[in-house]
Amino acid sequence: MSVHQCDFVSLAAPGVRTLKPYQPGKPESELRREYGLSQIVKLASNESPLGPSPMAVAALQNQIQGLARYPDGNGHDLKAALASFHGVRPSTITLGNGSNDVLELVGRAFLTPDHESVFSEHAFAVYPLVTMATGAVARVATANPVSHKMPYGHDLAAIAASIGGRTRVVFIANPNNPTGTWLAGDVLRSFLDNVPDHVLVVIDEAYFEYVNDTGYPNTVSWVEQVPNLIVTRTFSKIYGLAGLRIGYAVSHPDVADLLNRVRQPFNVNSLAQAAAEAALQDTAHIRRCLEANRTGLHRLRVAMDLLDLRYLPSQGNFLCVDMGRQGSDVYAALLEKGIIVRPVDNYGLPQFLRITVGTEWENERLIEALTEVIKG
Ligand SMILES: *Cc1c(COP(=O)(O)O)cnc(C)c1O
Repeated sequence: MSVHQCDFVSLAAPGVRTLKPYQPGKPESELRREYGLSQIVKLASNESPLGPSPMAVAALQNQIQGLARYPDGNGHDLKAALASFHGVRPSTITLGNGSNDVLELVGRAFLTPDHESVFSEHAFAVYPLVTMATGAVARVATANPVSHKMPYGHDLAAIAASIGGRTRVVFIANPNNPTGTWLAGDVLRSFLDNVPDHVLVVIDEAYFEYVNDTGYPNTVSWVEQVPNLIVTRTFSKIYGLAGLRIGYAVSHPDVADLLNRVRQPFNVNSLAQAAAEAALQDTAHIRRCLEANRTGLHRLRVAMDLLDLRYLPSQGNFLCVDMGRQGSDVYAALLEKGIIVRPVDNYGLPQFLRITVGTEWENERLIEALTEVIKG
């Protein structure tokens, strides 16, 4: 058989040809290999510096006995726990291998090459990926101007204006990653009340638990009245279980039924199900994480003020900071000092870096290193 050049790209599904893969934060192990550094601080992926609840870890250890068995494909116990936690019916919940998996289920269930999704500029990178993989068209709405009180944040009027007859899905991150900006309940609700019936609105609330703003809504409580609303949450952020991959959606049961049709039968493994169920019960751990995040975020803001660096308003566990120069240069200089943060030029914010709130010690290392880079 002859070896010949095969143009696999031309064989790929049309939407996949132009896809650029998601760029994750640089793993610690990679920096260790490349630079031979021993001490590394990773503040690049909005992971919880306090880790999961000890109750979740105990549940994991217990669950290890059962690894020969397939997980419960219906996630009965976790759905029951989530339903009771949120005061909703279990039939409204769809479990995902991370909430990214749920976003993909939405794309697979509702988008085709004849349809469009709408999301904002500077929004979470998974929305274009999910859209393009289905061959659907991504309509990107202009974000708020820099002069807005939520600079670079979602502009609901622009999003509404981008909705057309072919639009099936709108993705809204609240708060948004990487900006940290958020939307208040009143404007979000009036947006939803005016969205045409043929459009599903996904509100991605990965950072819900961190928000400390009286105007911020609990949209899960709206699902009963707004049938085209899909709210997604995750155990990857404040619950500290990013490595296990577990998230979920709350929606109208008919929407959940459609999401479940395209879901792989065992998308959420048994360890993740057990750990998430236990993590949900440990409200004291979540309070500690929240407290630590507030303190850490405040510390970072004070440090940025001293360095004369501007940052975007944030209600998450991260700060998006304007370096006043090419962000990737500062990123590279920090890497050499063993600090990993996140460049966001692929989000259209080339001067910014996104910094996750770490432990007190990690925050101080970041501040020290950044001060050297900025002043030196
Ligand atoms: C981190 C993040 C998620 C979470 O993804 P998982 O798949 O649940 O780990 C979802 N949406 C946004 C906006 C995020 O920043």
